[in-house]
Amino acid sequence: RLSMRLERVATHVPAGARLADIGSDHGYLPVALLNRGAISAAVAGEVALTPFCAAERTVRENDLEDQVSVRLADGLAAIEAEDWITAVSMCGMGGETIRDILERGKARLSGQERLILQPNGGEQPLRLWLMEHDYRIVSEEVLRENRFDYEIIVAERTGPVKYTAEELYFGPLQMQARSPAFLLKWQRLLGKKQKTLNNFERAQKGVSEEKWQEVAQQIRWISALL
Ligand code: SAM
Repeated sequence: RLSMRLERVATHVPAGARLADIGSDHGYLPVALLNRGAISAAVAGEVALTPFCAAERTVRENDLEDQVSVRLADGLAAIEAEDWITAVSMCGMGGETIRDILERGKARLSGQERLILQPNGGEQPLRLWLMEHDYRIVSEEVLRENRFDYEIIVAERTGPVKYTAEELYFGPLQMQARSPAFLLKWQRLLGKKQKTLNNFERAQKGVSEEKWQEVAQQIRWISALL
């Protein structure tokens, strides 16, 4: 069984996809999707030996060696052109980490793949990378599990796209949809940001004007949003 978080990610993987799950850990996502007949083949990429071995074990125990190739590799280096990958998932990593993996490995992408990304924080820099590389955000969601707010960002390369600074910060589609989970996340964050600013005020020294302005700007944006 998948966590609710990975279950939500799974809904964005197109039926019959050839999926590359990068940072797969135990390989739960590709194995669950194959067991359901939802995808046709998968690559599970892992940079670390222990999770790589865990993924191999999951694949073996499910008799899926013919459909899942488990590879010890850094980021998109796990993908070969002959894999004909149609969807790439990267889940449970920081947004900056996911962005760096995309940047380092962009030569491995044909541009036809759907990207299904589930960053833990750092959504803004990740969305900025997507925009700068002609990826349009086609679906987004916020969900809460185990007292964490998770985001899912689904993107496809469609050509030049322009998002405003606020859209990069909140997510262009989420700003439109204003789901209860999304609004709750930002209500919680507003409280945290206000505390941060109060701490800055008390500390005075050691906080750069730039950092201060950034948080103040975020508070204005969040207040306007809510
Ligand atoms: N994707 C799974 C999930 O969402 O439940 C596992 C998330 S786990 C917190 C993150 C995994 O990403 C770790 O197993 C880590 O080894 C792997 N990872 C981190 N950087 C990576 C990279 N550059 N290439 C491949 N895997 C990476």
